[in-house]
Amino acid sequence: MIPIARPQIGDEEIEAVTEVLKSGILAQGPRVQAFEEAFAQICGVKYAIATSSGTTALHIALLAHGIGPGDEVITSPFTFIASANSAVYVGARPVFVDIDPRTFNIDLERIEAAITLRTKAILVVHLYGLPCDMAPIMAIAEKHGVIVIEDACQAHGAEYRGRKVGSFGTGVFSFYPTKNITSGEGGMITTDDPALAERCRMIRNHGMRKRYFHEELGFNFRMTDVHAAIGLAQLPKLEQFNRIRQANARFFNEHLRGVVVPTVPADRTHVFHQYTIRVPNGKRDALRAYLQERGIGTEIYYPIPVHRQRLYVEELGYTVSLPEAERAAEEVLSLPVHPGLTLSDLEKIVAAVNEFMERGEVL
Ligand SMILES: *Cc1c(COP(=O)(O)O)cnc(C)c1O
Repeated sequence: MIPIARPQIGDEEIEAVTEVLKSGILAQGPRVQAFEEAFAQICGVKYAIATSSGTTALHIALLAHGIGPGDEVITSPFTFIASANSAVYVGARPVFVDIDPRTFNIDLERIEAAITLRTKAILVVHLYGLPCDMAPIMAIAEKHGVIVIEDACQAHGAEYRGRKVGSFGTGVFSFYPTKNITSGEGGMITTDDPALAERCRMIRNHGMRKRYFHEELGFNFRMTDVHAAIGLAQLPKLEQFNRIRQANARFFNEHLRGVVVPTVPADRTHVFHQYTIRVPNGKRDALRAYLQERGIGTEIYYPIPVHRQRLYVEELGYTVSLPEAERAAEEVLSLPVHPGLTLSDLEKIVAAVNEFMERGEVL
């Protein structure tokens, strides 16, 4: 079976974890700090705050920006649910703006129409590893006095006009095992603002600056040194992992027939957390089953857009229709693109997809 994702764990990660276990410092300690400093450096920001997951990093970021009840957060409906749930956690309302069908990211042209007096933030998602169009997004935010949060949980190391994602607005990353680098579970917030960084650290640790002096309501959203050790060992490999993902994507672009391959605008780099094709004419599910039978794992990210999830329809009362996100949910299919693939895996995937699509056209 060729899996859709496979974490790349080497001796470095295993030795780093063993060292932590022997050190006696297991919870948040020196490895977390080292991971934060190294991560801030690769993102080109001053501060990074490590957390227990990408979800808790998003939650902290919204709290630290003072977003709460009565506020609106503009975001994409075509993402992992955590992006939008972060607004729900703090009592704010996600406002969904449809996607650009070419990039799968939030449609720039529709953002301004969604801004109201209650809008506090634009939470963009760099879906599948492709950066959003950050220059106009930052300009819109500035014009309307709202902040920008970048959900970069799928886009570690991706660049927009030569600058790393997570360095435009407040950045949020995840180190879940399927992501471009992992710490087991884990997350990170990136910022150049020292006051915001300080607030994030407080919220992460029960509202404390000084031990057992609790200034505000906080949480235990800390990363452990065990997880940070894995993340630190992965970090130097990120560029190489991304290069292999990009080379695998190029192979697919050159060889796949009959499906719509990903679009990459010239001013940014795609780090291919996912290589996602569109399969037109209602053939997606049949192609997926065909690949499964041939030992090729695929996944649908995401089969139901956030505004159509039961939570959003039945509990939160969403009735909005967003046709591009809904159509994408019916047509997308992600193929394995991770750095563990061999040339023979790539050839097998291409042959199976092309075989199915060619046969389908004859029928
Ligand atoms: C993975 C992911 C998250 C959440 O990260 P976790 O570490 O799993 O909590 C949030 N947003 C997006 C777009 C993601 O892909």
